[in-house]
Amino acid sequence: MIYDIAIIGGGPAGYTAAELAGKSGLKTVLFEKNALGGVCLNEGCIPTKTLLYSAKVFNTAKDSAKYGISCENINYDLSKIIARKNKVVRKLVAGIRAKMTEAGVEVVTGEAIIKETTVICNGQTYEAKKLILCAGSETVIPPIPGLKETGFWTSREALDNKEVPESLLIIGGGVIGIEFASFFNTLGAKVVVVEMLDEILGGMDKELSGLLRQELTKKGIEFHLTTKVISVNNNQVEIEKDGEKQLIHTSQILLSAGRKPVLKGITVNEYMQTSNPNIYACGDITGFSLLAHTAVREAEVAVEHILRNFSPSCGGGRGEAMSYKAIPGVVYTNPEIAGVGQTEEALQTEGIPYTVKRLPMAYSGRFVAENEQGNGVCKIIEGEDGSILGVHILGNPASEIIVIAGIAIEKGMKAEALKAMVFPHPTVGEIIKETL
Ligand SMILES: Cc1cc2nc3c(=O)[nH]c(=O)nc-3n(C[C@H](O)[C@H](O)[C@H](O)COP(=O)(O)OP(=O)(O)OC[C@H]3O[C@@H](n4cnc5c(N)ncnc54)[C@H](O)[C@@H]3O)c2cc1C
Repeated sequence: MIYDIAIIGGGPAGYTAAELAGKSGLKTVLFEKNALGGVCLNEGCIPTKTLLYSAKVFNTAKDSAKYGISCENINYDLSKIIARKNKVVRKLVAGIRAKMTEAGVEVVTGEAIIKETTVICNGQTYEAKKLILCAGSETVIPPIPGLKETGFWTSREALDNKEVPESLLIIGGGVIGIEFASFFNTLGAKVVVVEMLDEILGGMDKELSGLLRQELTKKGIEFHLTTKVISVNNNQVEIEKDGEKQLIHTSQILLSAGRKPVLKGITVNEYMQTSNPNIYACGDITGFSLLAHTAVREAEVAVEHILRNFSPSCGGGRGEAMSYKAIPGVVYTNPEIAGVGQTEEALQTEGIPYTVKRLPMAYSGRFVAENEQGNGVCKIIEGEDGSILGVHILGNPASEIIVIAGIAIEKGMKAEALKAMVFPHPTVGEIIKETL
C-alpha cells in the first residue's frame, strides 16, 4: 500500500500533522519509537507544569494566612506529586491515541528509518507520497570534565526523582533550568543556578528576567551569572567568573544547558518543506524555536500545504506560510513570566526605534485581589507608527493573558485598536488595556 503521508515522530508536531491529515482524508501513517505525545507530553511541558502546579498549591497553602485562611501541618509527599504527574501524562497520552484512532491514522510503534523514498520500521517497508519529519530534539551534554562520572540529572531524571535533594546545582539558567529551580526551591532544596550569560532566560525581555531573578533570589535561590562550570568532581562543582575560580558543594547536579535537534542541518522554507519538495520537517527537529506551540503551528502549515497539492477542493495555492512574528515564550515559575513579539534588546540590535509603556501589575484589581504582596509588571513596546511590537508580563497568570497580545501582534493591530477592545472586568488581562 502507498500512504499519502508518513510522519516520523509522535510529539506535538507529529500528532498534529497526523490528526489533520487523517481527518482530511489522507491515508496517514505515524511512527513513534517511544510514547505518543513526544517530549512535550511525556517528559517536557505537561509533566513540568503538573509538578509546578503541585508546588504552587503547596505555596498557596503556606501563604493561606495572608488570605484569612488557616491551614496547619502543611506538607508534601514528592512520591505522590510524581504519581499524580504520571497519571496526568497517562491520561493525555491516551487522549492523543484516541485522536489518532478517530482521525483514521495508523500508528506504528517502533524506530523509523528512512531509506531513499521509503520508511522502514520493525522490518517492514512503508511507501508514502509525502514524508514529514517530526523527530524532535534531545538534551545537549556539554563536555564538562568529570560531569559524566557523576549521576547528574537531565530534565528527564529530575521529573521522576522521588526525593528532594538537600542541594541542587543547576547548570544553565534557561527556561527549563529556571522552572526546575522554582520547583525544587519551593520544596525546600537549596538551589544554585550557574548561567554563562549575564542574565537568566536568554531571549526573554531582559528587564523582566532580572526582576524574576530578584523575586527568586528573595525565595532563596542563588544565582551565578556570567559564570561557567569548568569541572565537576563528584559533589564538588568548579565554577569560574572573570578568571576567578570557586568550588561549590552540591548533593545533586541538574544539567539544563539547552536542547538540539536529533538530526543536524535540516532547513525548511516557509511551508516547512525541505530541499526535497516531498519531505517536510516540523517542530524541534528544525532547531528553530524548540517550543511545542511552534511545532503545532508548523505542522498545520505543512499539512495545509500538502493538502492543497493533493486535493483541489482545498482551494489549490500554497496555503498560509509559517509566521514567527508572535510566538509566545512563557516560563511557568511562580510568578510566571511571558513575552511575545520583540524585546527591547532585539530592537536595539536591529536599530528599530520604539517606545516603552509599563505599569505595575497592581493596576489590575483582580491581580491585587489574588496576589497578596505580589509584584509584577506589564511592559508594552510600541513602534513609531503605534504598532504593538512586543508585550512582556511578569506576574500570574502571564501565561494565560499573553495570548491577547500575541493575537494583536500577529494581526498587526495598532495599540489604539487593542485599547478600544472590551476586556472583561475584573481580569488580570485588563492590565494590557491599562498599560496601552
Ligand atoms: C523539561 C521540558 C519542559 C518543556 N516545557 C515546555 C513548555 O512549557 N512549553 C513549550 O512550548 N515547550 C516546552 N518544552 C519543549 C517541547 O517539549 C518541545 O518543543 C516539543 O515537544 C517539540 O515537539 P516535537 O513534536 O517537535 O518533538 P518531540 O516532542 O520531541 O517528539 C518527537 C518524537 O519523535 C520520536 N522519534 C524520534 N525519532 C524517531 C524515529 N526515528 N522513529 C520513530 N519515532 C521517532 C521521539 O520518540 C519523540 O516522541 C519543554 C521541553 C522540556 C525538555
